[in-house]
Amino acid sequence: MKKTITLVLSLIFLCNSMGLKGQNSFAEEQYPALEELYQYLHSNPELSFLEEQTAAKLATEMKTLGYEVTEKVGGTGLVCILKNGSGKTVLVRTDMDALPIKEDTNLPYSSNVMMKDINDEEMPVMHACGHDIHMTVWYGTAKYMAANKSSWKGTLIFIAQPAEERSGGAKAMLADGLYERFPVPDYAISLHVSAVLRAGTVGWCPEYAMANVDMMQIRIKGKGGHGAYPHTTIDPVSMSSRLINDLQTIVSREISPLEPAVVTVGSIHGGTKGNVIPDEVVLELTLRSYTDEVRNKIIELIKRKCKAIGLSAGLPENRYPEVILHDEFTPALFNDLALNERIALVFEKEFGVENVIKTDPVMGGEDFGRYGRTEDKVPIMMFWLGAVETEKYEAAERGDIQLPSLHNSRFQPDPEPTLKTGVKALTVGILELMN
Ligand SMILES: [Zn+2]
Ligand SMILES: [Zn+2]
Repeated sequence: MKKTITLVLSLIFLCNSMGLKGQNSFAEEQYPALEELYQYLHSNPELSFLEEQTAAKLATEMKTLGYEVTEKVGGTGLVCILKNGSGKTVLVRTDMDALPIKEDTNLPYSSNVMMKDINDEEMPVMHACGHDIHMTVWYGTAKYMAANKSSWKGTLIFIAQPAEERSGGAKAMLADGLYERFPVPDYAISLHVSAVLRAGTVGWCPEYAMANVDMMQIRIKGKGGHGAYPHTTIDPVSMSSRLINDLQTIVSREISPLEPAVVTVGSIHGGTKGNVIPDEVVLELTLRSYTDEVRNKIIELIKRKCKAIGLSAGLPENRYPEVILHDEFTPALFNDLALNERIALVFEKEFGVENVIKTDPVMGGEDFGRYGRTEDKVPIMMFWLGAVETEKYEAAERGDIQLPSLHNSRFQPDPEPTLKTGVKALTVGILELMN
């Protein structure tokens, strides 16, 4: 009896270690192909909603793997399905777009691309948010799953999403019937590179992980005139300076100190010359929060403060500052607690507890949250994939250097450990959900 138990235990151990070895050796063997794809994507970035070549390249690769590919979902989006018997349905998302930034990394495969954006303005283009890493990890994982169909059952939906940076891509894919024309997933999973975590590590953040993001414009209308006769004008420059100070009291005085919130005025434009009082000043803002209540309260308070400034300047009501909320809203990203705890445990088993970091939420935005906000209430997980070269990470820890952030022209992930860790993490995560 004892012997049988020992034998069974050793067999279980052997099977487990073979499973792990399977993913590890797969990531090793596949690395040259993944590196080639990564470098291709990095050198050929495309701007939001214009990811034509990128989508075409991924569509070809996914068809070769045996996925059933539907193109042009929500613009350039792809839906790639692999059915393998009955079981859970898991959605795996990558984004595809790059940013209007001139790359400054000196990498041999750095981007020199210039292209017209959706407003027809010529822009330099760079994958400065790591979406090229996301696509390569997504493809590497899709390849593993297609090559190892005996180790899982269910349906995989790999989606490639346009325009994360303009925050319209997830909305466009959902509006184009992602959850109607294709199966509704039991879970949705995704990752984002981290410019602060070491390559080889992963980070996770349960519940609120990223913020509601709003962009707003305020147009302050006055009555222009000569700078020497201010009493004959209504000066929008002095109104805007009072308003900006007043806006800073929203977070500090009117929102609970226990609720995260940000009101930033990032741009102020008005006037041409010191002795001319202009007719108008235009402010551009970004607002951040986690809950819908705080978001709505911030917007209401801004409107109230704008009215107050108009009133105090003696403007008629129809000339009060105009508040325009841009429709690029990104809702907060809420990581399902049970799903995230479950996957974090699997990561700890795969990478060791020391390489799995529970991170704090951030006030940045990501439209992946939308896949969990429909009436289907799909539990979602977005985790962080460390991308910083070990040497640089340690130098930054010592305070010798400052690491470039995401969206910086010098952002440069360490591809090999980042891609290998990404493929392993995504693969073990999906296998956990499938079995
Ligand atoms: Zn970004
Ligand atoms: Zn991004």
